[in-house]
Amino acid sequence: MSKDGFDFKELGLVCLNCLTALEETGSSLLCQKCGQKYPVLQGIPSFTDINPLFEGRFVGHIRPSRFSNKWFFPVFEYFNIASQRVIFLKRSLKQLPRGSKILDVGCGGGGYGFILKGFGQVVGTDVSLKSLEYAKAVYPVVHASITALPFPSGYFDAVVSSDVLGHIPLEQKAKAFSEMHRVLKKGGLMVHSAIETDSDSVWFRFAKKYPALFQRYHIDKHGHIGLEMPSVILDRCREFSFDILNVGKINAMILRPEVIIGWFDNEYREKNKGIAALVEISKWIDRFKISRIGFSLLLGVTEKLVNPFIDVNKTTGLLLCCQKRK
Ligand SMILES: [Zn+2]
Repeated sequence: MSKDGFDFKELGLVCLNCLTALEETGSSLLCQKCGQKYPVLQGIPSFTDINPLFEGRFVGHIRPSRFSNKWFFPVFEYFNIASQRVIFLKRSLKQLPRGSKILDVGCGGGGYGFILKGFGQVVGTDVSLKSLEYAKAVYPVVHASITALPFPSGYFDAVVSSDVLGHIPLEQKAKAFSEMHRVLKKGGLMVHSAIETDSDSVWFRFAKKYPALFQRYHIDKHGHIGLEMPSVILDRCREFSFDILNVGKINAMILRPEVIIGWFDNEYREKNKGIAALVEISKWIDRFKISRIGFSLLLGVTEKLVNPFIDVNKTTGLLLCCQKRK
């Protein structure tokens, strides 16, 4: 038992070299078969190097709304454009049996932890040790890369991620998918809510007209070093023998004011008068709670009407629920 109260044995941790169960010895975990040792840092078993690109980032939490018990909340959430990824996550995980084991890969500070814990026993992994120090207040965590997961094969009922795969370098994608596939049970769910993608959307086509700005505000700002077209991601799922159960799109044609501000409230304003105006309107909407909520609902309804007619490659956020073939 660690001093934070996690029983490492219960996490099912195995050696990365030989997939043998690990024994706790003093301040580290030891493989009985090949002798490989893994340190425990700040109460967190560590299986990877620290990646300075992500250290201490993405530590926000999504807490359940204080209105979540009110009768109107499901309706509000259903139409609110900002809730679509959470709705997708919940709808996907609802299929899991009770007591399911869930792996939250690239969990950062455990942002979706409070939601995930409603569906089973959750373990979080991330390459950022500092972010994990926040996440461990929510659920047990392990310092590990998505490309080398220290868990037995066929161990989890679901592997979930939120805003992770866009951060994985292209040359590591296949390894990441093969690891997520390996640790899942047959029939287990892989749910990404969402994957940041490359896109053929009007927004990205405009943004890419200025390659230096695109690099600065769409790649470097967030560490989106592994953006791929949605169709490429879907093909890879099929290649790894996942059946695709459900696909959703966010940030396709309809962007929320805060996304418009995040993307274009910079040198892009000087490139196009229409964009400059949109940024100004978005800032105005974003200033008052009432206009923010009103527009979230209005845009949510519009998105629902428009999205079915939009090609998947026009999204910049892919919602994906797959099942490992039985
Ligand atoms: Zn070993």
